[in-house]
This record gives sequence, C-alpha cells and structure tokens, in this order.
Amino acid sequence: MNKLYFIVGSQDLYGEECLRQVAEDAKKMTEFFSEKLSDLCEVVLLPTVETARGCVEDIRKANNDDECIGVMTWMHTFSPAKMWIKGLQQLQKPLLHLHTQANERLPYDKIDMDFMNLNQSAHGDREYGYIVARLGIPHEVVAGFYQREDVIKKIRRFVDVAKAMHFSKNLTVATFGNNMRDVAVTDGNRLEAQIKYGWEIKYWGIGEIAELAKNVTEEEIDAKMKEYTDKYTMATDRVDVVREQACMEVAFEKFLSEHDCGAFTDTFQDLHGLNQLPGIAAQNLMAKGVGFGPEGDYKISAFSAVLMKMAEGREGATGFIEDYTYDLKDGCELELASHMLEVPASFADAKPEIQVHPLDIGDKSDPARLVFDSVLGDGIQVTLVDMGDHFRIICADIELVREPEAMPNLPVAQIMYRHKPNFEIGTAAWCYAGGAHHSVVSTALTREDIALFARLTGTELITIGEDTTEAELNRIASYR
Ligand code: MN
Repeated sequence: MNKLYFIVGSQDLYGEECLRQVAEDAKKMTEFFSEKLSDLCEVVLLPTVETARGCVEDIRKANNDDECIGVMTWMHTFSPAKMWIKGLQQLQKPLLHLHTQANERLPYDKIDMDFMNLNQSAHGDREYGYIVARLGIPHEVVAGFYQREDVIKKIRRFVDVAKAMHFSKNLTVATFGNNMRDVAVTDGNRLEAQIKYGWEIKYWGIGEIAELAKNVTEEEIDAKMKEYTDKYTMATDRVDVVREQACMEVAFEKFLSEHDCGAFTDTFQDLHGLNQLPGIAAQNLMAKGVGFGPEGDYKISAFSAVLMKMAEGREGATGFIEDYTYDLKDGCELELASHMLEVPASFADAKPEIQVHPLDIGDKSDPARLVFDSVLGDGIQVTLVDMGDHFRIICADIELVREPEAMPNLPVAQIMYRHKPNFEIGTAAWCYAGGAHHSVVSTALTREDIALFARLTGTELITIGEDTTEAELNRIASYR
C-alpha cells in the first residue's frame, strides 16, 4: 500500500511536557488522516523533528521506503528551520507543507504563554516556509484547520498526484517500431524525458509481438474472447477477425508483463507480421490503465499512463485522445476527437459494440474495433510537448457533449467536445501553446490536479479555460 509520511516539527526549547503534547497531537492527527485517506494510502507518523540529525533520519526513512509516495510536514511549534536544511536537501519525494493547527479556535478566556508557545504554527510554519522557498524545493502548501473538508480534499489531491509521480518514476514504455515518419509531435528528447519524469523508453520491433502471437494458444484466445463478450456486445459475425485481435492483445499483455512495461506505442507504418492494426487490443488495454501512444508517440503513451494512475479510484474516464475534425457552426463549434480506432473503452457511456470494418489506411486487413458514444460532462484536455530546451504541459478545460446528429458512416469510437471559453480563443490558445494533436482527455481530473503535477515536476504549464481572455491569448502567443 502507498504510504504518506507525516513529519511534525518542534524543538527542545519548551521542555518535555510540550514535546509530549506535540507527539500526542501528532498521533491524534495521524489517526484522523488515516481514516480520511484509508482508501488512498497509509499515513505513517515519524518521530518529531527536534534536531537536524533527527530531520535527516526521518527524511532518509521516507527516501528509502519504496512504498512512500510523499512527505507531509507541519510545524506544531517553532522548529528553527536551519535544522531542516540537511534533511530537505536529501528529500527525494514530493513535499506537502500542511499549514494547520491542532486547535481550531483560540481559547480566548484561557490562553496564556504556555498555550501560545505550544500552538504556534503561524510562527513555526512561516519559518519553515521560508527555508523551503529558500532551498527552491517544488512543493504544495495546504492551509486550514486540518479537519476541514476542503483541507482533506487538497491532501487527497496531493496523494493522487504524488502517487502518479511515483508511478512515473518507475514507468517503462515499450515502443514497437519508431515514430511515424515525418510526424513532429511524436518525437523529442527521450533522455531528458527519463531524467525528468523517470520514463525508460525502450525500443523493440513489432515482430516481437508477431512472434509471440504465433505461440498464443486457442485456450488463451478463448479466455480473451470471453473477457470481450463479458464486457462488450458482439456486433459482427466475423469472429475470426475478433479472435485475431484477442490473440494480439494476449501477445501484448505477455510482452508488457515480461518486460515490466506500463505503456506502449505502435505505428501503422510498421505493423510487420501483424495482419490488422491493433484496435480492440489497444482499446481494451488502455481501459486497464496501460498507456498508449499511436505513431510511436512515447510521450503521450507515458503521460496517459501517469494521468490514468492519478485518476485511479475517481469517477470519470481518462485516456489518450487524438484531435480530428470540427463542426464550425457559428457559436456552437464542436470538435470530434477519435483516432484510427484507438479510443480507450473507459470513455464508453454504455456497453460498447465490437464491429469490423475496413480502415482505408495502412494496407492491412479490416480491423475489429470497439464502437461507442462517450461519457459527457466537464473535463480537461491535457498534453505534454517537448519545446527543445524544456517540456511544457498544456491543459484546456472542455465540455464533453453528445454529437448533435448521428454519424452512421463513421463506425469508430469517438468523443465530442466544446472548447472554453469559446472556439476562437480556446483553440487558438492551444495552437499558440504548441499543443499539437495528441492528448489525454479526462472527466476525472481537473486543472488543479495538472497544475500540481506541473509544479511538483518543475514543468512549464499553460492553462486555457473560461478565464482565458484575449489579453491572456496574446500573452500565450509570445511564450517561447
Ligand atoms: Mn496522430
């Protein structure tokens, strides 16, 4: 289970009784947080920091525990911040500074110097805030009485983002084939992506999957077909074509598991040895949280896996999406997003249908795919691009809507959405920002989640939404 380490700061100046009370309050708060976060993580209280050595010991414990996804700190009393320098310099986990108090109200009729000395986070947390800022450590500050619902909500957000960062640091991406020829956005600096986000991006030929597929047994295909028919409606009599996809998915699963990969890419320019473009195979894998990027796009493959991990346990859908075409009716502009086939099954608002149709591109056999309408409601579209000397995250607020008319001749899964604040500003801002055409759409995550991820990973962020004005658009246009 993921663990959030809780470290409380104090010092020995105020005597043993004070430290006993600090430890007692910290324990009580830990129990409270443990209950409120029980579905997300275990909250582990470390010994109160009273000296620089104690701080280093606590931080090392957090660093050395593979299950520790982040560290939450709070200064119960004044904890002279020089004693935090050595420890914080070694910290390798995301940091949350909880700015709170054990007591909600001041006991006006009883307050004396002892009470004030014991409960002084306005004093201690600001001293600590200074040193974290001085050291330049990216972190999150959550302020408010610790029992408040909005404070818990923000701590939960931190845990989700920290969990995603932890996953990111351990993620391996299998790229089958290289980038699609001539497509710019799928390329970039793989080495920098590994240094910054931890992604090991490894190349294999798609022939590896073709070879594995040859040895998939009829029983394994039967089991995969049962999984399909349990989850989806068979709306084709071309069962052999669907079995071919099932076989491919088994091969992908075996390969990804054997090589400990949480994400993969393919490209329809290199399907050597495969008879169809992976359709259901990719759609079904994505719905299980496996990252996917088409055209060899390892960045979006890894990023989609990281964001699916962040959204884990929340209501709503999250996954890879490719921008395609617009309905430009004045004032009601909409975008139709899809891909060849690869829209994650998690976006389905009802039981998807398995269908088989020609692809008209890639010179392969007719692929089986899942066809469905998507979930609706507010969401975000977010992408990560390589600007040459830095990475940039672009996050736009969108609203997923039902297509205004049926599209009987487009048998693919798709989603449709409205840009905010409107088409002109929303899409122009996306283009100015260099958002390109591969992204992750989520109705589970919010701009705040992405902003926290960007801050904690030190990634540039551009946001677009109802608050994006013409003036803001001009500012985005001048970004370099
Ligand atoms: Mn593309």
